[in-house]
Amino acid sequence: MSLLDIRDLEVSYAGHAGKSVRAVAGVDLSVERGQVVALVGESGCGKSSLGKAAVGLIAPSGGSVTFQGEPLVPLGRAARPVKQRKLQMVFQDPYSSLNPRRTIGDQIAEGTRVALAAGEAAMSPGECLERVGLPTDAVSRFPHQFSGGQRQRIAIARALAARPECIVADEPISALDASAQAAIANLLLEIVRELDMGLLFISHDLAIVRKIADVTAVMYLGKIAETGPSRDLWAEPLHPYSKALIGAIPRPDGRGRLPADLPGDVPDPSAPPSGCRFHPRCPAAIPICRTDEPRRQELLPGRSAACHVAAAQFAGASTN
Ligand code: SF4
Repeated sequence: MSLLDIRDLEVSYAGHAGKSVRAVAGVDLSVERGQVVALVGESGCGKSSLGKAAVGLIAPSGGSVTFQGEPLVPLGRAARPVKQRKLQMVFQDPYSSLNPRRTIGDQIAEGTRVALAAGEAAMSPGECLERVGLPTDAVSRFPHQFSGGQRQRIAIARALAARPECIVADEPISALDASAQAAIANLLLEIVRELDMGLLFISHDLAIVRKIADVTAVMYLGKIAETGPSRDLWAEPLHPYSKALIGAIPRPDGRGRLPADLPGDVPDPSAPPSGCRFHPRCPAAIPICRTDEPRRQELLPGRSAACHVAAAQFAGASTN
């Protein structure tokens, strides 16, 4: 049983002119205890919608999310069982995720109450702050007295206070300056290893993902294009979109972006292309790609991809 298990998840929004937009169009993904799973893809690919649905901030339009074997109760519909409050979220913007009018200690104490309600020994707000590298006297101060990187440490301390089993971190480093980004990513990794919890790390920063993720899932236009152990996926990507992403990493600024030779932008999710969603941009496309949607399937042990060409290549390899 996976710690966090996402099955055939769909998230739809009402778009312009009454069109429904399927931001997440049938995703399977799981996070195990002690594991960092990275979800990567371009802006607009649906990864943040997936993250919000994974913690119950938005209700899925289809599929399921289970946490520790039980269906996740969406936030706001009913009181969430204490056990499910062990699934915590760290947001992109540490400026807006903290209440500017309450002390840091007060805000961290909310998480402490979750641990106490679960009958567990709780860390004090000061202990939580120490764990994330901040002084204990920060408890009496307010968010505006801290830098962006420090505020993200405070947001992590607040999540830690609940003694989480799993954290979903949605672009937790993208609003920070370069010096704080690696420090926050390393802090999250340290905490995962120390507490043996799970982490779903949603990011477009491929260089950081490569360093910290055990498993990488590549998302394109609402679907998972490829997933597998990070070491293997980064060494030899199977899907043409993964190849394009990974080929973009050696940039002077150290941050991966799509290379200039991949044409166009992510298409409008309210009118996805027929067949393979990636076909209008894919350098490897063949005629079937325009008409038939590829099914994601295991092509190598522990590695799956949704691509007609890769599937044919590995089917051929297995019979040679
Ligand atoms: Fe490219 Fe075709 Fe594979 Fe899609 S199915 S990624 S278009 S080769």
